[in-house]
Amino acid sequence: MSYVFEPAKPAALDVKGTEDKFAVRRVYCVGRNYAAHAREMGSDPDREPPFFFCKQADADSVVAVAANGEVDLPYPSLTQNYHYEVELIVAIGKDGKNVSIEAANDLIYGYAVGLDMTRRDLQATMREQGRPWEIGKAFDYSAPVGEVTPITDSGEINSGNIKLTVNGETRQLSDINHLTWKVAEIISRLSELFELKAGDLIMTGTPEGVGPVVAGDTMVATIDGLSSITIHIK
Ligand code: MN
Repeated sequence: MSYVFEPAKPAALDVKGTEDKFAVRRVYCVGRNYAAHAREMGSDPDREPPFFFCKQADADSVVAVAANGEVDLPYPSLTQNYHYEVELIVAIGKDGKNVSIEAANDLIYGYAVGLDMTRRDLQATMREQGRPWEIGKAFDYSAPVGEVTPITDSGEINSGNIKLTVNGETRQLSDINHLTWKVAEIISRLSELFELKAGDLIMTGTPEGVGPVVAGDTMVATIDGLSSITIHIK
């Protein structure tokens, strides 16, 4: 059997301590998973729980950033309000369905720093109209993700600084312990909706302070214990 054209290669992330790559299968995202960010987006975190959406998982959507490395990201089309969202990325290493919260962390292969880049104007229009979010969230090069640090190296990450700077100024600064749904709860809930498989990434949500970047800006995203990423907007 052969294909009528060469299949696209999967997005593949570097893994700390090995030459092997982490091949990406799906990208799940959590919306409004920090109360202060939910408030800045105009919703009440006490009344509206977090929720899920997806980004594309192909190599033209998930941009692999080498260990403590940098990449150029093209300013996307059809937006005047291109936003950063720094997020803890959970990399799934085992399959799981209907996984309990207690067993959820067994599915974690490792963690990375990533950005859920967003065409905020298009997302807002779709939200107001009750339409799907893909054009605001799941566009080309919308998910730069750094090197994966195996959980055997980092241990479970339940706290620690998460930070994003733009041109050296701090724009987002919070702590992973402010997640509304904790990582184990996210994995457990997701695994009831979808069968999780090795290669899945979960973008766990962004803290407050989201805002726009323009061509010429440089962002640095860091999470304690993980490899940082540097992004130049072109
Ligand atoms: Mn996000």
